[in-house]
Amino acid sequence: MADTVVRGDTLDIAIEDGKIAAIGPELPSAAEEIDAHGLQIFPGLIDVHLHFNEPGRTNWEGAATGSSALAAGGGTLFFDMPLNSTPCTVDAAAFDRKRAALAKSSITDFALWGGLIPGNIPQMAELADRGVVGFKAFLCDSGLPEFPRADDLTLFDGLREAARLGLPVAVHAESQEITQGLTRRIENGSVRDFLSSRPVIAELEAIQRATLLAREAGAKLHIVHVSSGRGVALAAQARAQGTDVSIETCPHYLFFTEEDVERLGAVAKCAPPLRSAVDQDALWTQLLAGTVDMVASDHSPAPPEMKTGDYGKAWGGIAGVQSTLAVLIDRGYHCHKLSLERITSLIASDPARRFRIPSKGAIAVGMDADLALVDISRSAQLQAGHLKQRHALSPYIGSTLRGCVVRTIRRGETIFVSGEIVARTPGRFVRPDLCTI
Ligand SMILES: [Zn+2]
Repeated sequence: MADTVVRGDTLDIAIEDGKIAAIGPELPSAAEEIDAHGLQIFPGLIDVHLHFNEPGRTNWEGAATGSSALAAGGGTLFFDMPLNSTPCTVDAAAFDRKRAALAKSSITDFALWGGLIPGNIPQMAELADRGVVGFKAFLCDSGLPEFPRADDLTLFDGLREAARLGLPVAVHAESQEITQGLTRRIENGSVRDFLSSRPVIAELEAIQRATLLAREAGAKLHIVHVSSGRGVALAAQARAQGTDVSIETCPHYLFFTEEDVERLGAVAKCAPPLRSAVDQDALWTQLLAGTVDMVASDHSPAPPEMKTGDYGKAWGGIAGVQSTLAVLIDRGYHCHKLSLERITSLIASDPARRFRIPSKGAIAVGMDADLALVDISRSAQLQAGHLKQRHALSPYIGSTLRGCVVRTIRRGETIFVSGEIVARTPGRFVRPDLCTI
């Protein structure tokens, strides 16, 4: 007898020992019966880009609260970025500390990015050995002095080493020269000044350079948080010319525009910044055309005191980890006719394939039983009290979205249901399977 059966409108899913054991109509009963009639069943959301800041800055977030918010949004696996935790994940010792901390605190499964910074290329092999999903580099200042940006030679050397190790390099693609030069010209700390200091051309220039270096190095490249349709188009052009590149965008670029930043203030400050409605339309056009590979939150939280006062000095980062799926269902499925199959690709199957996690990302026999049960027609207004993250700072507060996560199941265990976190066991570390293609 199965441990659990999830009964859906057309098919049932039987779960044994945390894995999907059978899929079919009217499966035999099990110890635990879950009624999913009227609900859409997605594979658990995989968030390939977020910052839970543990160890070291758990007063900003921490994996206990961060993974709870992820689970409340239908997530079952995240990839933590190498910065905002202390120490940054740039060598094996830092990796070991982070893995040990997250194994205790995370309720979802987790994987780790390594860092690529000037001077740590000799440490990339030991990080690969530990099981990083890839290496993250900044092409402009990261905002943290302990994680310096990669100059062109560091990036090129790092791309070649990553290629040798069979892992991708992820880049924050904004030009240092353009953003730094324009930032120096800023007279006051207004929202408009910030937006104009990080124009789309800064993104385009960096994407062009990174894709060229990656092609020359024979490396896999992942461009994080592409904020503009033109950025996606440029990366897609590089792909057509032979660069092995994957393209990520974030829900906030699909949901908010620069007009919203003026209304919302620092809670909607991020880099690259939110764009004009015209740029956002172009991003939607690319997403609907299938050019974007995945949507990740880039959850980048900070304590409230870092999000107040002078806009120019406020921490840049949007803390929206709980809302990714709801944004895609509301704005994507309901408003733009984005299919549920494409949403599944963007949040689960493409991330699992690109980063080689063969046990996750699809609902199929033998896979981990990671599921998000969603009422796609139910509307809910997000309130601060709904947020499971440490600080109730999200630009989505007050927004009404169609698409409510009712239950999240991680390896067969319900970890979120009816608005409550109910996990009994911790999440597990997940590493890429470099033998799979
Ligand atoms: Zn980030």
